Amino acid sequence: MGLNVKKNDKVRIITGKDRGKGGRVLFVDKKKGRLIIEGLNVVKKTKRPDQQNQKGGIIDIEAPVHLSNVMVVCPKCSKPTRVKKKALGDGRHVRICGKCEEILDKV
Ligand SMILES: [Zn+2]
Repeated sequence: MGLNVKKNDKVRIITGKDRGKGGRVLFVDKKKGRLIIEGLNVVKKTKRPDQQNQKGGIIDIEAPVHLSNVMVVCPKCSKPTRVKKKALGDGRHVRICGKCEEILDKV
């Protein structure tokens, strides 16, 4: 499976408790094929006291979501899409929307 999702992409979760919700990718773990998505797949974690938070307590954090559970949302047609690759003339490749063929990467 190719890694077609990058940081700052808009994605939509297609399975699980947050199915149908969308958000921005904050972090991509390439080795594990997992993403952290802003505000999604939030879980409660117990936090030990530290310098910022003397009392510690329960905090909300975004748990990783596997790549196979998300689709990239195209910024142009706003549809969840399978990302395709397109060759530019100069040997570079860019990601494009599978629906409207908008280029998703900055060139
Ligand atoms: Zn599109």
